[in-house]
Order: sequence, then C-alpha cells, then structure tokens
Amino acid sequence: MIKAQLDILRTEIPSSVTLIAVSKTKPVSDIAVAYEAGQRHFGENKVQEMVEKAAQLPTDIKWHLIGHLQTNKVKYMAGFVHLIHGVDSLKLLVEINKQAAKVARTQDVLLQFHIAQEETKFGLNLTEAQDLLSSNAFEQLQHVRICGVMGMASFTTNQHQISQEFEHLVQIFKQLQEEFFKNQEHFKEISMGMSGDYPLAISKGSTMVRVGSKIFGGR
Ligand SMILES: *Cc1c(COP(=O)(O)O)cnc(C)c1O
Repeated sequence: MIKAQLDILRTEIPSSVTLIAVSKTKPVSDIAVAYEAGQRHFGENKVQEMVEKAAQLPTDIKWHLIGHLQTNKVKYMAGFVHLIHGVDSLKLLVEINKQAAKVARTQDVLLQFHIAQEETKFGLNLTEAQDLLSSNAFEQLQHVRICGVMGMASFTTNQHQISQEFEHLVQIFKQLQEEFFKNQEHFKEISMGMSGDYPLAISKGSTMVRVGSKIFGGR
C-alpha cells in the first residue's frame, strides 16, 4: 500500500520537487517500508516523536520538522534535523542558532508565513519577515541559514482560494529573494502542498510538498 502510493506520487511529482513523506503518528515500521521503497525525506510535527523515530531508523534519512516549534524543544534535534520548516520568530531563530553552534552545524530553516484565512495557523506576514531579516540581531546569527518559505493553505474545498494563497506565498518568496537573498543560491525552497492540494501547489511553484495521509493512510 505505502509503496504503491509512493509509486503513484513519483509519477505525478516532478523530480525537481522534493517529496516529504509526513509520518507523524505513524509507526516506525511504516517509515521503514517507505524507506525500503527509496523514500529518504520524512516529516514530523513533534520534536520528541521525531527524535524517538530517528534513533530507530537509518541515519541517511533526512528529517524535516514541519510543525509549530517551541524554543525549549530545539536542543533535542539540533544534532541531526535536516530542515526546520516552521520558523516564525526571531526568538526561535536565536535558539536554533545557539543549539546549532553547540554541535558545530549550520541549521537550514524555512520561514513560515501565515497565508490561510484561519486565525489559528502560525506564521509571519511579509512586514514581520522584512523586519526580522533586516535586524541587527539576525545579522549576528552565524549558524542558521534561511533556505526559503513555508505555508499552509486554508482548510477549504475552494480551489480558487487555495490557489490564491499559494500565489501569495510565491510572491512573498520572490520579494524576499529580491530584497535579502539576491544571488544566494541556497534561498530556493517554497514548501507548500499537502495530500489534498499538492498538484495545485506544484502548478503554482512549490519546490517541496509535505504529503502524509496520501502515503500512509488516514490518521
Ligand atoms: C500533517 C501535516 C502535513 C501532511 O498532511 P496530509 O494532509 O496528511 O498530507 C503537511 N504539513 C503539515 C505542517 C502538517 O502538519
């Protein structure tokens, strides 16, 4: 089942787009099946769950922390996490920088933007990101590298609305690239698209899709 779903996704997703298999709440045995089928990027939304799973699985897995992150949890994953998608404050960046420095790493992160209509979703707006990126405090951070942006569309069946929210995130990406990351090749990722909307996200310019239930079944 998992392998068949991955095969389908591979025919639909261009090779230039990274497929992150979101394995939150699913057992290590499911991740092992996907790994055997060649999948290497996995996403979890809780630090503790990711740490426990990582300890039981091959070390060449690239772990993505995709959920909201609390500063006190950063230290547990600083040694191995591949990409942190949900960064939405300077405070969090400062802590990630501190923990990455301790293990002599430069941590790749994405800035999370609030593109949905729902009040509950975390994330920055463009002005907040511009303030952050132009601050002196940010300039001091030698152990974090901002590789792009991440967002979640509204939970709706309205394709037009989802489409506009994805376009909004792409506009934010382009604006920040122009203003802060010109000629910096590492600033290249737009993490958007989940099981219900990844084809649309890819058509709008996503470079990373985070797909859970379509691979592993409902939660
Ligand atoms: C759970 C989750 C996903 C995957 O959702 P599916 O609908 O199961 O594909 C993607 N991104 C984030 C941030 C998530 O929390």
